[in-house]
Amino acid sequence: MKSSEHRQAPELRVSHWIDGEGNPRAPLKLADLGPGHKVIYCFQHWCPGCHASGFPTLKRMIEALDGKGVGFAVVQTVFEGAEENTVERLHETQTRYGLEIPFGHDGGVGEQPSIMSDYRTGGTPWFIVIDPSGRIIHSDFRVDAEAVIALAGNAEQAGRAAGSALPLNWKQVVTWAKHGNPAPPRRDERTENEWRSLLTKEQYRVARTKGTERAFSSEMCGLFEPGRYHCLCCDTPLFDAGSKFDSRSGWPSFTDPVTPGVVAYHLDTTHGMQRVETTCNVCDAHLGHVFPDGPQPTGLRYCINAVSLKKA
Ligand SMILES: [Zn+2]
Repeated sequence: MKSSEHRQAPELRVSHWIDGEGNPRAPLKLADLGPGHKVIYCFQHWCPGCHASGFPTLKRMIEALDGKGVGFAVVQTVFEGAEENTVERLHETQTRYGLEIPFGHDGGVGEQPSIMSDYRTGGTPWFIVIDPSGRIIHSDFRVDAEAVIALAGNAEQAGRAAGSALPLNWKQVVTWAKHGNPAPPRRDERTENEWRSLLTKEQYRVARTKGTERAFSSEMCGLFEPGRYHCLCCDTPLFDAGSKFDSRSGWPSFTDPVTPGVVAYHLDTTHGMQRVETTCNVCDAHLGHVFPDGPQPTGLRYCINAVSLKKA
């Protein structure tokens, strides 16, 4: 999968939509596509590649992922040829490919379609894939349909795991990091300036810019009293003191989060290492990393910056 940044998917701002049967419908929002993976396909009626490869690829994914909880939508992003790529083409194209999914029309003469600016797309055909936590995990002219089919199938299993009593282990962590994270309980999104005004310089450096506090710099390492450790930024309960252990690493260490959905995982190849970064799944605060050398029951060591936590 092509993924450069994994930023949060912006809400859709496309105003004109038809539903899966071709009838007018209210403007589609991301939540209307369900809690699972979402695929948005951008086309223009007169774009040859959209018909030669784009729609067949989309149809392949829709058929293979039927009933797997993946949401699909198509948007005509008109950045040229407004006289050819008209609203009327939506239903015509929907019928031609037998696609019973929402179609939107995004464009105006002389202005860029909102999807192109919001999602920074480069033309058509264009595929956007969003994971269950709302992050853009693919955005490109092409998409590997078989990879999407595999990851959405894996995510369905991962989602079941997230909702059940813990088979949380290293394999599960790597699956989330590679194929998309479990859905968060809620989201808390603020601007960098808002975070900066709420946090001290050191808190901001660690939690919002992926910094690392100095080892053994916090008394929290040696604290084992009962209670919960919340996200410093958004106050979401992340870890229970019952899962805390003395790793002698210099950073507070836990075997598992309070529920699987509150932590997100990202492959981190900085500093010449292959590691898995952990972030708050609600507000994207950098927490630390997770390693496969922890004690039972999970065998995991969540190595967390004390600065990113507050004890409740
Ligand atoms: Zn948070």
